[in-house]
Amino acid sequence: MRQANGMADGTTWHSSDIDHIIVTEEQIREKTADLAKQVAADYADADSVLLVGVLKGAVMFMADFARALGRVGPPVELEFMAVSSYGQGTTSSGVVRILKDLDRDIAGRHVVVVEDIVDSGLTLSWLLKYLESRSAARVDVVALLRKPDALRVSIPVRYVGFDIPSEFVVGYGLDYAERYRELPFVGVLKPSVYGRG
Ligand code: 5GP
Repeated sequence: MRQANGMADGTTWHSSDIDHIIVTEEQIREKTADLAKQVAADYADADSVLLVGVLKGAVMFMADFARALGRVGPPVELEFMAVSSYGQGTTSSGVVRILKDLDRDIAGRHVVVVEDIVDSGLTLSWLLKYLESRSAARVDVVALLRKPDALRVSIPVRYVGFDIPSEFVVGYGLDYAERYRELPFVGVLKPSVYGRG
């Protein structure tokens, strides 16, 4: 039976599936505070900033980023969207279906899209056009992670946490088959995990 409360060394049982860590919990915390300061400086004159989180992967980063920005910047409001990209296997096609739309009008608002990871960039490219079509006054993007080698479109991601290699990563909101989202760090799975089915 798996241990519910973690291993003797303080890690969770899920951590034992991780081959190596790419970004530690402490690095995420420091970078999130740093990104919040940058956004706060750029939006110093705004009445408020509307953060749009992309479900489900951005949930952890959205929660931490919103609190970090709230400490140093203008008032923050939260919205979420859920989209699914049609693609083959693990590749995104850029054709996007909205699973959950915004709950309100964003016309004239200062919007910051909060993304977990920019991979090919196709989903984000679609999302930016969509938000602009809804007449936002300004749309910027903050992404915790970006895979520069995987980018297939040029998109203006103004605030980037970490550029990482083009490997499949999990943790801090990112999943493999809906698991590993709760890990406080970002890491790469052991190859043996993929064979378990
Ligand atoms: P894009 O359209 O940029 O190729 O795809 C972006 C989405 O693909 C992300 O929001 C995320 O949901 C998913 N994704 C891209 N790379 C990874 C990865 O390394 N790990 C996980 N778990 N999801 C990823």
